[in-house]
Amino acid sequence: MNCDVADLVKPKNSDANKIGLDEFVKHLENPEVVDIAHIRNVVLRSLQCYTQDAGFYQLMPILMSPITDPLNHAVYPAEIAYENRPLRLTASMIFHKQLALRAEGLNKIFIVAPNIRLEKNTIKSSVNHLLEFSQFDFEIKGASMYDVMKFINELMVHVFTQVKTHAADQLERLGRELPDYDQQFLIYSSDELREKHGENFEQILSTTATTPCFITNYKREFYDRETPNKRKHYNNFDLIYPEGYGEALSGAEREFEYEQIIYRMNELQMDLAPYQNYLEAAKRGDIPSTAGAGIGIERLLRFICGKREIKDIGLFDRSIATKFLF
Ligand code: AMP
Ligand code: MG
Repeated sequence: MNCDVADLVKPKNSDANKIGLDEFVKHLENPEVVDIAHIRNVVLRSLQCYTQDAGFYQLMPILMSPITDPLNHAVYPAEIAYENRPLRLTASMIFHKQLALRAEGLNKIFIVAPNIRLEKNTIKSSVNHLLEFSQFDFEIKGASMYDVMKFINELMVHVFTQVKTHAADQLERLGRELPDYDQQFLIYSSDELREKHGENFEQILSTTATTPCFITNYKREFYDRETPNKRKHYNNFDLIYPEGYGEALSGAEREFEYEQIIYRMNELQMDLAPYQNYLEAAKRGDIPSTAGAGIGIERLLRFICGKREIKDIGLFDRSIATKFLF
């Protein structure tokens, strides 16, 4: 079937668009928009100030590259071309974080990074997924996963405290009571949780937990480091929010040794061709040993504001069911 671009961009159903516009304006007129904007300010300021004060350098985002995060689940491709070279829109800055830390004296970095992930509508939870979102994405040279988890614990407690101090009125108007999380977040391994709760362990833990908690050891992308001398065991983790809000962030130590990277890519039956330059850098020893994590900013705001739908956090709907009005 022939499909003209002009047809594609033409609104198909003007009534549906009118209803969409009415909903959009109603959303903008909701006074909660300003309360959430204030909380967003406090969250971004406290994340950036705390991390800069801890010696991190803030980098600017990269939006397109020959390679991006292959992800652990299938998404529609998001590609553009420049002079016949295919470029992928950034799904995460994982490879750029690793390579940036090769710079002498750049030992800790972070980026407030936009990510495009054209999620399929078959994913488990659309209340938690956007087609574009932002990560507070950071990486530390020479760190272990436990260093990173300790830092995240301190950072998250700092953010919650700042919000409670500087956005108390906004939280109250949103009807959100945010508890004090001053104790250490508990750490579980996915094996013990799977044995106890079955495959849905993450959601079950999130629903029953009263503080954020870590879960370690997930089988996922090739770049999360396999535990040395322990095949199919991984030095990675997620942080889970309580009250059923689910995954907050994912983090890990990274693979950096050429042979091991090849082993992991082959195990996942990946096409190595697009990764030529990355593999060459690894072969030359130009990928340092690092660990880091990426915090989903909209999911953090969703949790802090007590919103069940992630789309209620933003002005422009980028949920999977969006009408893409603007
Ligand atoms: P990942 O490393 O793929 O787990 O992504 C890092 C973090 O980004 C996740 O833990 C989520 O907080 C957030 N995130 C991932 N995918 C999405 C999405 N489609 N929409 C909103 N946030 C997301
Ligand atoms: Mg994840």
